[in-house]
Amino acid sequence: MKRQYIKPEVSRAELEQALTEVNEQLWQANRRLEEEERVRQEFLANLSHDLRAPMAALTSTIELLQSGQDMDEEKYKSLLNLMSRRLGMMQSMMDELFLLTRMESPSTRLQLEKVQAGVFLEEYFFACEADSKFKDRNLKLEVPEEFPYLIEVDVNKMIRVLENLFINALRYSSEGAEIALGAYCVAENGERAVCIYVRDSGEGISEEDLPHIFERSYRADRSRTPEKSGTGLGLAIAKSIVERHGGRIWCESRLGEGSRFFITIACA
Ligand code: ADP
Repeated sequence: MKRQYIKPEVSRAELEQALTEVNEQLWQANRRLEEEERVRQEFLANLSHDLRAPMAALTSTIELLQSGQDMDEEKYKSLLNLMSRRLGMMQSMMDELFLLTRMESPSTRLQLEKVQAGVFLEEYFFACEADSKFKDRNLKLEVPEEFPYLIEVDVNKMIRVLENLFINALRYSSEGAEIALGAYCVAENGERAVCIYVRDSGEGISEEDLPHIFERSYRADRSRTPEKSGTGLGLAIAKSIVERHGGRIWCESRLGEGSRFFITIACA
């Protein structure tokens, strides 16, 4: 019988090249999985630490109250206040975790409506101006007067994003600092989009921390002080909400030079 040799259509060099590319893709996928696993482990460790701290404080306060120790009314009241603050902390952590889980679940639907970006931002800004929390900060609105662009958003969720950014701008700055809310129009993947920014002249973020701040429960060591006690979930929530809207969120910052958070949302 005569043997037939089939000439391969792909050369050995091409095959090797394809194999190298597949190998590279697998390696990168593996790196991503490892990174996700690291973030997940850290999140769980931080979460249990953050819940354990107020729980331990609650337990010792309850024990003190149960001990029947003589105490004046003032001390008694201050212990009750302490307990209620700790419970409040645990409650807000649970609420934020719940919101984050909902936002990350594909089955959660957004209540989308078309709004004028300028009007939406102005309304949010005026509410902040009226809020006594911000009375020691220099608030600025930098949305152009003529800003007719429409965006389709879940208004309550987007307010939550702005709120998280504003609360951080407040938390990581001191009296007299500037906090600005602004917007401009950009081209995003060839489409028109609105870029919203929140800028503060606060303490800024180090080069080392910057790549991690949107991770669940990541907090720069400097931020782990009782007076700055956040849950470490604010930016992860903001990111998941913005991404559910098909948008992007990122931050530019340098330690000691303030921070600028940007969000893009496609125009409707
Ligand atoms: P937290 O509840 O700790 O504020 P976030 O997820 O909102 O958690 O933020 C994560 C970390 O990013 C903060 O702990 C802080 O270190 C840093 N960060 C966020 N916003 C700012 C800001 N405006 N200025 C400086 N650091 C910030």
